[in-house]
Amino acid sequence: MANHPCDVAIVGAGIIGISTAYYVTKLRPDLRVALIDSLQPMSMTSAQSGENYRNWWPHPFMTAFTDHSISLMESIATTTGNVINMNRNGYVLATRTNDISQLQDELVRGYQVLENNDIRQHDSPTSASYSPPSSDHWNSAPQGVDVITHSALIRTHFPTYDSTVKSLVHIRRAGDISGQQLGQFMLDQFKQAGGKRITGKVQSIEKANRYAMTMQGSNSTVNADKIVNAAGPFINEIAGLLGTQLPIFNTLQQKIAFEDTQSIVARDMPFTIDLDAQWINWSDEERELLSADDHFRWLTEEMPGAIHCRPDGGKQGKWVKLGWAFNHAQVSPEMNPQLLPSFPEIVLRGASRLHPQLQTYLNDLPSNRVHYGGYYTMTDENWPLIGPMEPENTFVAGAMSGFGTMAACAAGELCAQWVTETSRPYYADAFSTRRYRDRILMSELSAQRSRGIL
Ligand SMILES: Cc1cc2nc3c(=O)[nH]c(=O)nc-3n(C[C@H](O)[C@H](O)[C@H](O)COP(=O)(O)OP(=O)(O)OC[C@H]3O[C@@H](n4cnc5c(N)ncnc54)[C@H](O)[C@@H]3O)c2cc1C
Repeated sequence: MANHPCDVAIVGAGIIGISTAYYVTKLRPDLRVALIDSLQPMSMTSAQSGENYRNWWPHPFMTAFTDHSISLMESIATTTGNVINMNRNGYVLATRTNDISQLQDELVRGYQVLENNDIRQHDSPTSASYSPPSSDHWNSAPQGVDVITHSALIRTHFPTYDSTVKSLVHIRRAGDISGQQLGQFMLDQFKQAGGKRITGKVQSIEKANRYAMTMQGSNSTVNADKIVNAAGPFINEIAGLLGTQLPIFNTLQQKIAFEDTQSIVARDMPFTIDLDAQWINWSDEERELLSADDHFRWLTEEMPGAIHCRPDGGKQGKWVKLGWAFNHAQVSPEMNPQLLPSFPEIVLRGASRLHPQLQTYLNDLPSNRVHYGGYYTMTDENWPLIGPMEPENTFVAGAMSGFGTMAACAAGELCAQWVTETSRPYYADAFSTRRYRDRILMSELSAQRSRGIL
């Protein structure tokens, strides 16, 4: 039987396990680190990501955490000639209401931790200080946030949006990256630093002097002093092998990408989110058929907002990505989740409310298309779990919900700081299971109107 002795064994080679391995090796090059996965690296949830990032969150801890992660990504982009394809088109939140006071309050609260993060108001038909989105280098984009509350100014800069949009918020430290390239870069660096990749499914963990892990279908054991649980949707299965449980659940979320053969979506359009709830625009006949069916009636009822649309593949690209995280059903994760066959039509109809020209594709979605999906692994408060777990010398880095790509660098670094017992940022305890002992923080979180789920 092959035996792999190491100091730190990380279970899961998604973006979070890889990032943790990368930062442990950076902080402590002397440690022997093993990264274990039954699949190819970056092939489960991390392959399904929309790859968007933002530093806007309703709570200042999440703002500080993701803002730091963006700085870490920027330093990788700088040293690699932007191998991660980082852009800075921003996020636009669009709504048909004039009253965005709740959103404005959240902006002020969430951004209170950042210096130089101006919130600029534009409430007239022209504005010299509004800088439109551009696909130029991320370094030249403005910081802060632009709030536009004049319809004429919205029409000038975003002529393709539905003409009933009254207000929009343009988050500037935001955009998209190639998550796969980011993962590949950190994995290569980890291997070059002597890190070991082991293929196998962890099926049992025993504790004697050290932890001993056995792999399914392989004659090998990994012996480690410390274990990091970065198993994505399966973090509770690994926690179970260690005799503990984590307060998480999984919901299946989906996206589509297709070739925009009619060039409908502008190539420098920001990642745009329609915030408003809606009733999907079925024909009368379709509506009647759907409402007569117990399984599909929900599609004729009010649907939540937060439909996403963005161009994919840069300035020269032709593809578009659409997503809509409307599913709240909590399920047991499966290796190959069953996607909803009607999702492409549902999301296209939903997205065409803000982008009316997308209706062109309603009965004729281009054949070059992909429908994909994976799990949002979440806590109730939609904060991650990074830090020590119950049995000593075990750690978790998970519950990354819909923000695991953007927060991967900061999450991996934070977990590495716990593992190597080096200094940690002020929010470290709040992102670990220790937060559940902090009644003041927990009641503050449960009182929040938004959990930042997009
Ligand atoms: C549809 C969708 C869109 C998203 N869009 C965005 C976005 O725009 N921006 C953003 O920041 N985030 C986004 N996310 C979230 C992001 O993709 C995830 O948070 C992130 O990929 C989670 O990474 P992970 O490493 O924790 O999990 P995973 O990538 O799932 O990796 C876990 C790994 O653990 C391995 N594993 C599990 N059990 C075992 C075992 N017993 N033995 C060995 N290996 C095991 C698995 O094989 C897997 O490779 C999106 C997610 C989805 C589903």
